[in-house]
Amino acid sequence: MNKPIASVARTNEILKKFDLYAKKGYGQNFIIEPGIVRKIAENAQGDNQCIIEIGPGIGALTEQLALRAKRVIAYEIDDRLIDVLAYSLSEYNNVEIIHEDFLQMDFDQLIKELKKQYEKIVVCANLPYYITTPILFKIFESKEEVDCITVMVQKEVADRFCANKSTKDYNALSVITQYLYDAKTIMKIPRTIFNPKPNIDSAVVQFNKKSEKNTVDNEAAFFEFVKGCFKQRRKTLYNNLKELGKQPEVIKKCIDDAGLSETIRAEACDLDKFIELYNLWREL
Ligand code: SAM
Repeated sequence: MNKPIASVARTNEILKKFDLYAKKGYGQNFIIEPGIVRKIAENAQGDNQCIIEIGPGIGALTEQLALRAKRVIAYEIDDRLIDVLAYSLSEYNNVEIIHEDFLQMDFDQLIKELKKQYEKIVVCANLPYYITTPILFKIFESKEEVDCITVMVQKEVADRFCANKSTKDYNALSVITQYLYDAKTIMKIPRTIFNPKPNIDSAVVQFNKKSEKNTVDNEAAFFEFVKGCFKQRRKTLYNNLKELGKQPEVIKKCIDDAGLSETIRAEACDLDKFIELYNLWREL
């Protein structure tokens, strides 16, 4: 029986066999701590279901997902890793490696097809940090929702997703994420468990589909409105809203009707307040 791919010995054996080095441009940092990979897989909520992974690397997390899921579909951009994964994951016949840039694939279509076969579809990944936000927004903005997303990201980014109002990490990303999902940090990850070791610490964040959502009529317009409210963080909400093209008296009325003072900043408003403001804004 082989040691886990995430073990130092097995990772070194695979890297040596394929004369492989980590490509910085693809955000490659391979996990070399089997206990942590196992724990991430246990938390992914994909047991006996279908799991989508982005960036399998040499297969450390993929292996632990394959031990639990019915099927794992993993998207890898680096052509050097396709043969490596065929070798490292050869024991697992429930894994499909797709050689494609995740940002280019048709996510809606994939989820639509998978929903015909599986009760639950989840995403689990140690994300390449240079494209964390585009990857997550591709999933968030998809018409077909997944049930749960468990991803390792840079610690500072994790803090933003989960931030409460009036804290330094709270911004438009926090509001938009919290509108769509219940987000929480489930693990803190030290930089020492990677090869090569990055300059930052990481965290595993989990996004669960909301059971009840306070909805708006047009989500895309709501997200643009929220981004506009935070455009210049040090400016008041009133001054940021002025940039969105309505008359000063209309903006004043909107802020006043929402029960807010004219000097308030966007960071002091929670999700429900943004929804209230947006609905007033649409009507005026
Ligand atoms: N899952 C492995 C692990 O935990 O050890 C590797 C994670 S590494 C941080 C990120 C992985 O994402 C690398 O394998 C990299 O090649 C891959 N990647 C980067 N950009 C990608 C993209 N646009 N689409 C798919 N995979 C990508």
